[in-house]
Amino acid sequence: MTISSLKSLPRFVSRSLFILLLGWCSVGVNADENIADVLIVGAGLSGLSSAYYLKKAGKTAVILEMSPHIGGRIRTANYADNAHAEIGLEEFWEGNPAVDLMRELKIPLETFYTSFSSFYYQGKLYPFTHKSNLEFLQSVISTDEMKAYKKWDQKMVELYKQIKSSPLSKNLLPLIEISFADWLHETSGLSPKTQEFVRIQTEPEYATSWTKISAIDGIAEWNFLSEGQAPYHVVGGNQRAAQAIADFIGSNNIRLNKLVTHIKSTDTGVEVTTSDMGNFQQQIYRAKYVITTVPLFRLNDIQFSPPLSQDRKEAIQTQSGGAYFTAHVLVDNKASHFWKTKDISFLPIISDGPLGVIYEGKTESNNDAVLNLLINGSYAERFNSRVSGGPEDVQEALIEAFEKQWTGFRPSVKQMTFYRYHPHAIASWPVGRSRFDSLSDSLRQPQGRIYFAGDFTEDTHSNGASLSAIRVVKDILKQK
Ligand SMILES: Cc1cc2nc3c(=O)[nH]c(=O)nc-3n(C[C@H](O)[C@H](O)[C@H](O)COP(=O)(O)OP(=O)(O)OC[C@H]3O[C@@H](n4cnc5c(N)ncnc54)[C@H](O)[C@@H]3O)c2cc1C
Repeated sequence: MTISSLKSLPRFVSRSLFILLLGWCSVGVNADENIADVLIVGAGLSGLSSAYYLKKAGKTAVILEMSPHIGGRIRTANYADNAHAEIGLEEFWEGNPAVDLMRELKIPLETFYTSFSSFYYQGKLYPFTHKSNLEFLQSVISTDEMKAYKKWDQKMVELYKQIKSSPLSKNLLPLIEISFADWLHETSGLSPKTQEFVRIQTEPEYATSWTKISAIDGIAEWNFLSEGQAPYHVVGGNQRAAQAIADFIGSNNIRLNKLVTHIKSTDTGVEVTTSDMGNFQQQIYRAKYVITTVPLFRLNDIQFSPPLSQDRKEAIQTQSGGAYFTAHVLVDNKASHFWKTKDISFLPIISDGPLGVIYEGKTESNNDAVLNLLINGSYAERFNSRVSGGPEDVQEALIEAFEKQWTGFRPSVKQMTFYRYHPHAIASWPVGRSRFDSLSDSLRQPQGRIYFAGDFTEDTHSNGASLSAIRVVKDILKQK
């Protein structure tokens, strides 16, 4: 309707319409007509991978990302002397489709060790200096314990095959209702020491206590550890992988600082409303389909029209998450004898305490080393909250933990830098829920033209992010 056509309407109607029009103009909603085939919410691994696969299939996609950077939970911090360490994702596991994607893009990768890590248990260090997981485990437990372990590990492989074939068979359903810890105590036949080994190796993965996840999810988590999948790092830092995928997609197809607030699905397309994080200007984008890849706890902030179905809402509300807190510690290189034997590093070390998993960052300095602490579970929850006091209190707590483990380490510490990912860093499923249950299935189904991806919809970690991207792109390509 033009302003002149308003004149032909009765005066009170035309005045009201004029005011409405004025109001709409002053709110200043801009609308982009069908900007692409697909809109993607979030430029983390899941969103970037979705755009990558769509482009390869000849479809156009535009990513809307609320933060000023790409990568989401893939982030690398850079320091003096070309030092760098990961803030988020530490390693990509073999078998993760992201590794194939990175190979396609010729992103240089490196790998150093297998899936088990050196660890401290009751004050004793068990360094992983062996050629394989089994050889390492033989140095930790007795021959009889090893026999029971091999039998149990074989059973875990069988169970994993069964739970992968959806829907879950009846005999597996009770495994959702019992915690991984209780199930192991009651049925594994493993010695207490071997059970502790399983706990220590797996808890940093789901970043919460093994008493808080279901047995069925414990089985899924064990799968990639037991098979000894190699972990990959991107040479120069994992953020380079995110950048390389973004370069392939094209920077004009990634809109930063765009917080998605509303997603509307109609019979003919989708309408996505964003608020610019700089000037709060609203903008509407239209496309045929939308993929949301936002983390679980952010999905609740988006208003969907029509509203999310009851089972999807329940899936979101009842899933939980593990906590991470990252600390980068710049130390004098003279202290490296604590984590090296004959000049060979046996990092990463699982501290089974406040230090979490101790990784080594990279530096070109001959004088310093960078340690990267992936603190997880209850310690991360404490450090993420104000309960732990200010940064100097966290620093002191960590130095005390170092000193307990490595007497005389304190003077080597030059600087600590902290990074939080709050509130939930990683997906986990509490007892009573599972990534294989029907509520999880509901999130894997599109609602109208809205497709749900992101690590938590599939699996934990970047594996879930990549698998979910493959799933949603496949589903969209099936549409006419
Ligand atoms: C400290 C830490 C260590 C980890 N270590 C490992 C590891 O070693 N191996 C491994 O495989 N995995 C690891 N993970 C997990 C891994 O990082 C994630 O599984 C993966 O990166 C998730 O990718 P994603 O795309 O699903 O989500 P994200 O990376 O979280 O991306 C989602 C994006 O959506 C954006 N967004 C959110 N809400 C909105 C909105 N309303 N509008 C627009 N944009 C929005 C976010 O800003 C973000 O960029 C780790 C995670 C953390 C935090």
